[in-house]
Amino acid sequence: MSADRDCIFCKIIAGELPSQIVDEDELTVAFMDINPATRGHALVVPRRHSRNLLEVGSEDLQATVLGAQRLARRATERLGADGVNLLTSSGSAAWQTVFHFHLHVIPRYEGDPLRLPWTPSPGDPDEIAAAAEQLR
Ligand code: 5GP
Ligand code: ZN
Repeated sequence: MSADRDCIFCKIIAGELPSQIVDEDELTVAFMDINPATRGHALVVPRRHSRNLLEVGSEDLQATVLGAQRLARRATERLGADGVNLLTSSGSAAWQTVFHFHLHVIPRYEGDPLRLPWTPSPGDPDEIAAAAEQLR
């Protein structure tokens, strides 16, 4: 598996940095986030280094999503989570701080303090359509 010498997640995967590993398979490792948003917040990463969602290969992406589903189920069954958020950030504009692709698995509890990071409000239909046209 390729590794990036300066990447903290590659070091965690290699066992060169300590972590609380909670799940692993041939392609992925999952470990606890050191700055948990809620109790049980974990990160699932492919063993193979890639920068983010824009770069990760389909096999690693698939394995990482499946790992996130395993942890989401455990958070519900074992931690009593009432819901789960998955989050991935691609690029510093999107808050990415560690440039090794990862999925945050964030257990959610009724009444927990997390809030949506945007305020939903209706968009301009023409502008929505224009963006849609660019995305097709
Ligand atoms: P990002 O901001 O890139 O979406 O997520 C990076 C996450 O990695 C952050 O939530 C941060 O708390 C976590 N993190 C950063 N350094 C370490 C570390 O050394 N060990 C662990 N377990 N998590 C880390
Ligand atoms: Zn890495």
